[in-house]
Order: sequence, then C-alpha cells, then structure tokens
Amino acid sequence: MSPNNDEWFDRALSVIPGGVDSPVRSFASVGGRPFTVASGSGSTLTDVEGNTYLDYVQSYGASLLGHADSRVVAAVTRAALNGSTFGAPTPGEVLLAERLCELVAGMEQVRFVSSGTEAVMSALRVARGATGRDRILKFDGCYHGHADSVLVAGGSGVAQLGLPGSAGVPNGAVADTIVAPYNVVPTLDETFAAVIVEPVAANMNLVAPAPGFLEGLRAECDRVGALLIFDEVITGFRLHLGGAEAVTGVTPDLWTFGKVIGGGLPIGAFGGRRSVLACLAPNGPVYQAGTLSGNPLATAAGLKVLSVVDQPALDGLIVRVQQFGQSLEAALRSGGLGATVLSAGPLLGLYVGETNPVAPTNYAEAKAICGGPMYAKLFHALLERGVALAPGAYEVLFPSFAHSDEDFARTLEVATEAARFVVNQ
Ligand SMILES: *Cc1c(COP(=O)(O)O)cnc(C)c1O
Repeated sequence: MSPNNDEWFDRALSVIPGGVDSPVRSFASVGGRPFTVASGSGSTLTDVEGNTYLDYVQSYGASLLGHADSRVVAAVTRAALNGSTFGAPTPGEVLLAERLCELVAGMEQVRFVSSGTEAVMSALRVARGATGRDRILKFDGCYHGHADSVLVAGGSGVAQLGLPGSAGVPNGAVADTIVAPYNVVPTLDETFAAVIVEPVAANMNLVAPAPGFLEGLRAECDRVGALLIFDEVITGFRLHLGGAEAVTGVTPDLWTFGKVIGGGLPIGAFGGRRSVLACLAPNGPVYQAGTLSGNPLATAAGLKVLSVVDQPALDGLIVRVQQFGQSLEAALRSGGLGATVLSAGPLLGLYVGETNPVAPTNYAEAKAICGGPMYAKLFHALLERGVALAPGAYEVLFPSFAHSDEDFARTLEVATEAARFVVNQ
C-alpha cells in the first residue's frame, strides 16, 4: 500500500526541517499536520489518500487558471521537449517581456529571475545603484520575500529603525531598512533610495490602501528623489492586467512580479523605465544574474496564462469572486460566526472573530483580529468538509478561473455548517 498522509509527513519531518520547504505550508499556526498533495486539477487538490479538497490556496496565487490547466500543460510540455535551460537567450523570455511591457503602462523593460524574493532583492539593488543611496523604507506587515534586508519585524507607531525579524539576519543587513505603518505617508529625506510597498497589502490578510496613501508615497518619493517600488508579486495581473497602477492611477518607478507570471512554475521579474534599468550589468555597474533566469518552461507557462486571460475575462472573474465574497460573509454570519470578507480584484480577505471584524487599515489592526483563535477552528471545520484554505490567518483566498459557480455554491453550504460547528464547539 502506498504511504498515507501521516507516513509521508513523518518521512518529510526526518529529512526536511519541519517537514516543509516553506514555513507557510506547516500547520504550526492552526494545529495538526498538513496533508500531502498527490495531484491538483482546476479548483481541486487530491491528497495521497485520495481525499479531494476545493482549493482556495492555489499555490498562494501562482495558479490563476487553476491546477494543471490543459493549455498551460501543453505549453510547458512543448517547451520541455525543446530543452529546459540553456544559459543563452531564448524567444520565450523575449515574448513574455514584450507581453509584460505591453500590459503595464510606463514599464519599458523587465528582467526575469526565479522567484519573487529575487525580484525584490534585485529591484532594491537597482534602486540603490541608481540613486547612490542606501536606505529603504518598507511597511509594517508587508511581505517582500525572505531576503535579509526586507525581513524586518514591523514596529508599531511611527517609522522606526528596523531590527532583524529573523535570527540569522545580521543587524547590518537591516540597518538601512526603515519600517513604517501601512497607510500613513512617511516623511523621507535625501538618504532614501526607495520605498517598497504592496499596493494592496495581501500578506497581512487583506488591507486596502487608504485614499491618498499611494499618491502620497509617489509625491514624497518625488520630493526627495527616491524610487517608488510596487511589489506586485501578488497583485500583478490579478487586480488588473495593467497592474495596480491601472486601478490606483499611481505609477511606480520599479515593479516586482512573480506568482501569476510563471503559470505555476518558478519565476520572478523586476521592471522599470529603460533609464532606471540602465545601471544593470552588462550595461552598468549593478550586478544581478541567474543560471535559470528566463527559464523556457516558466516563460512558456507564464506566456500561456497571459495570452488566455484578457481584461474582460479578468473583469468577469472579479465580479464573480466579489459576489462570492459577499455571500461567504453572509453564510458564515448565518452560521453564527463573526465574519467580514473583504475583496480586492479576485483576492478575498477573510476575517473571523467573536463579532464581525472591522476592516483593518494596518498590521496592528490586522493582528488584533487574525491573532485570535477563531481562524484555526474554522480552518479545520472547513477542511474536514472538503474546503482548503491556507493554514494561516494572514493569507488571502485565491479563487481561480477554474472555480465554478457550483464550487462557490458548495463552499457557501459548507461555510454555514462549519461556522455553526465552530460556534457550538
Ligand atoms: C510571495 C511574495 C513574495 C516572494 O515571492 P517568492 O516567489 O515566494 O520568493 C514577495 N512579495 C510579495 C508581495 C509576495 O506575495
């Protein structure tokens, strides 16, 4: 007999730290042990025991079309038959770069890397190289990957000097990282190379930018000559095919992308105006490189996603998902649970508590809700009923194009039942 979930996880625990290759996959914050996925198809996952779950994680947003989309599978298969990496230019990276630059107004060039983390590292290096300055400002509760300089604990209150948010990050690596609360425009000076921000924060659950916040960042960066970086690793080609700029009207100097643009394969990208990226090697003094950068399989998958999804289709998904979000809130409340479901494009932010949570505006407010015990209970009640959310209260839901109206309807039925169960526990 093939190993069951427990056996796989025991084996994982012995050879992989914590049994997982990324801590968000562990069930540390909700309790219990993760299931091991055997396969995914569209909106669903199947574990090694044959249990099927309706999946709202979708690899934390990497699968906009759903799992194993036949068009993406065909594109990747074709690419693989031609060889998967060469260490030389390929048409796929050119085509994907052209597509991204055509979609995102103001972005003239883009370079590919293999993850969102690398995209952010590279964009920060470009910003520092281009300005000749060292300091960067990030916002409390925004996640920008696990590079040393952005892995800083958020301080509440006014902007403050960052301290390492992780053991193993030397003080020196974050000495030039300043942390400020989201939704308050900080005062900068001429020592700042860049401000990096998630234009809609989607890693402290969902927190929308307040009116004027992004506009204020743009003006403050311009005032002191710092570069504004939109980290669109989640929001890119999801809020809108033109990126956050198309919905907020604010144009950054540098963009970082990941997740959606790889169609489920490892990729990241950073882009900007030609004049800003002119500092990159081989043209300029800022070094940045990667053996697998612009990987033919990843660019083929990403190109396929960004050729089958057009704006009307994305708008259609957004309408369906936002209606579903409202219904989900109502379904959970009708089961007796305090619930508020926020949306931004096709992203949903699920907040639960004893009473209906008020939409947070920053990390401190998000923590006050998400730090409670209710999410873990609801998570398990839903999972037992075949609906998989992320095993952590700070993650958003990522409904995909593969989620059908029947999937949403089933989720609503299950949600009321699960809420009732949790409340009566
Ligand atoms: C996921 C994420 C990253 C990191 O991307 P990886 O591919 O996991 O390295 C960076 N920024 C944001 C906003 C993200 O959501």
